[in-house]
Amino acid sequence: MHNSNRIIIRDENYDNKTLRLNETLFSNANGYIGVRGTLEEGVPDDFNTMRGMYLAGVYETIPMKQAESLCNLVEQKQTMLNVADTQSIDLYICGERFDMGTGELISNKRILDMDNGFTSRQILWKSPLGNTVKIETKRMAHLAIPQLFTIEYSVTSMDFDGEIVFDSWHIGNVTNYSDPTDPRLAAESPSYLTVNSAQAIDNSIFCVSSTGVSDISIASATSNILLGEDDYIDVYDNTDDRRVCTYIKGHISEGQEIRLVKFSSFSDSLKSEDPEKDAMAVLQDALEEVGADGSGLEHLYDRQTKILKDFWDQSGMEIMGDDDLALAMNFNMYQLFCSAPRTPGYSMAAKGLTGEGYEGHYFWDTEMYALPFFTLTDAKLAKNILHFRYKTLQKARENAGLLGHKKGALYPWRTITGEECSGYFPSGTAAYHINGAVSYAIVQYYLATGDEQFILKEGAEILVEIARLWLDTGNYDRKGRFVINEVTGPDEYTCMVDNNFYTNCAAAHGMKWMIKLLEKYADTPDIISLKHRLALTDKEISDIEKAAENIYLPYDEELGINPQDDSFLQKPVWDLASTPKEDFPLLLHYHPLHLYRYQVCKQADTVLAHFLFPDSADAQTMEKSFRYYEKITTHDSSLSTCVFSMQAARLGLHAEAAAYFGDSAKLDLMNLHGNSADGVHTANMGGSYMAFTYGFGGIRIDEDGLSINPFLPANLKGYSFKFGYRGRLIKVTVDENETAVELLRGDELEFCHGEKSYRLIGGEKCHIEQ
Ligand code: BGC
Repeated sequence: MHNSNRIIIRDENYDNKTLRLNETLFSNANGYIGVRGTLEEGVPDDFNTMRGMYLAGVYETIPMKQAESLCNLVEQKQTMLNVADTQSIDLYICGERFDMGTGELISNKRILDMDNGFTSRQILWKSPLGNTVKIETKRMAHLAIPQLFTIEYSVTSMDFDGEIVFDSWHIGNVTNYSDPTDPRLAAESPSYLTVNSAQAIDNSIFCVSSTGVSDISIASATSNILLGEDDYIDVYDNTDDRRVCTYIKGHISEGQEIRLVKFSSFSDSLKSEDPEKDAMAVLQDALEEVGADGSGLEHLYDRQTKILKDFWDQSGMEIMGDDDLALAMNFNMYQLFCSAPRTPGYSMAAKGLTGEGYEGHYFWDTEMYALPFFTLTDAKLAKNILHFRYKTLQKARENAGLLGHKKGALYPWRTITGEECSGYFPSGTAAYHINGAVSYAIVQYYLATGDEQFILKEGAEILVEIARLWLDTGNYDRKGRFVINEVTGPDEYTCMVDNNFYTNCAAAHGMKWMIKLLEKYADTPDIISLKHRLALTDKEISDIEKAAENIYLPYDEELGINPQDDSFLQKPVWDLASTPKEDFPLLLHYHPLHLYRYQVCKQADTVLAHFLFPDSADAQTMEKSFRYYEKITTHDSSLSTCVFSMQAARLGLHAEAAAYFGDSAKLDLMNLHGNSADGVHTANMGGSYMAFTYGFGGIRIDEDGLSINPFLPANLKGYSFKFGYRGRLIKVTVDENETAVELLRGDELEFCHGEKSYRLIGGEKCHIEQ
């Protein structure tokens, strides 16, 4: 059955204003390949396009100039690569080139079909000479064959007979996008790839290129087949050794439809020993599956649909009473699913695979905001992502060493391979709370899945090294409190402070869980050998325990709130009401030091701590703090409104929870931050999922098990969602008549609602008394 909340159809203008935004919204990804929704035929030079195709984890290392060469500052960084452009196709009818800026654009629609996993363009165009064509394209990054991207390009003549020519390009010499005026994008756009070869072999085009410093080689292969016309010719032309064009020439008659199917496959030396052979094999398999007559094409599409059907069956959410919200949430979940790495040991970039914002770097966004979605919907993907932190643990140890730590591991603020890539340490490297996000995610993953093996083989070691780092960073003050100084919390409008409430909570949580898990599994061979390997002594363990117990959490008696840090409340409050609208986001209009001297927050900080660490304060302090920070938070970061929504839900402020949720859920689809053109905001997408399931749905997973305390926001008629918990699939349904929980799969279990306990039995609906 078709669910209209999973299809986006938009009538589009052809203009420079919306071009880049649509490239993001109509992008295709499958966890390995990401292709922006750029137009096959290209755009005029004065249009601002980010024409990109990306491969997960593929990067070049480039210099990062520091103005002053202070000791151990980062002087090089990784940047995500734009790889060979295989999406370019020029169409000529009767000698005229298809260009939406010429002739008459009768209609122009773009479609994203989230049930079937493709994007599409539907265009009716009359050429300057008066020939009308219907053009439909269908693009897919295949979820079952992650190295495959396809474009089906169909042309129907509405009123003429004549020649039809496709110029199908494979362009090796591409550059990355840049915008020197925006700190969230790369400042320069040199070409990072050297094309080693680009040539036609047996009806296919192969291109091999490599990076100069990171020493990665990338292979791409393309092939075109033309359906609906037997009598056509192919010619290959190596235009300049770095790009190859396949000219496909035929004849089209009035009413006839001709379809070109273009296959692209990719491979890289990080994941394959012989990328060229690998790309060739994938292409060959796809060509065989489809067949020369195209009869297998539907099969290729069906496999895509099947994966998405399973995904929606397992994770689908229904929202009754607000279709826009339902569509926005489906979009968020779909994008997350398509962005998650399928190869263990790779992470998910802040923009997924949809654009070059933040240069493809992984931040705390992944563990703190996106991971809960995977933990609850596809634990295997969650584990892949967590494995990245294990793979890069040694680099995190080295990073800690560079910062003067004698022990422990400090994860980099932003990275692709594990080295720090942040050039501005006050709001980068100093954000030690990245460690807190990693330890919190490991614990949540463990609690939600019960995956002991992960803890024993990887998680425990990470937790030990994180705990050691906290011990090495903090110290006891004269009052005997364990304090952590000179760090930056989540709010980047306040940097390098003492005792950031959030960081201290996260540190204590990580240390306590390290102790707990080492105790629980003390007798296992894995933990015995881990302690030995890491030379972890009982004295060190008890030091960690003591630090966690004595951690200092700032509290202000007079206001009854938790101050964000030791100096926060001494600063003047920024006058947000009198700040001109065009000055937001503040980071683009005020010097950082100026911002640091005020009480003004870019994003949730203490409010997030209260949500994640429910024992960190009493209910009254949490509510007062919520009200206090609400007034001084700009939400200039997309990681903010979702947190305010979930904490409002927790505090029983249902109207606020619903209002913040709307901003978060629709952020990309409605471009509410004005920068979705650079790529989607995956942290917020995950955050909106958390706001829905943890907030409205009242899901809480802790040591005591599962609690479910849902409510129905006044603006909705009802909702339902499914989630995985320790091998079960559970469905929560809330509407005006009932609040029910169902066990769809797995063993019976108990859950809590308020003070009451309920038993979930397969096949029976468990009604909750509200
Ligand atoms: C936020 C960070 C976030 C980064 C990447 C920044 O604007 O302040 O918390 O990690 O964006 O999304």
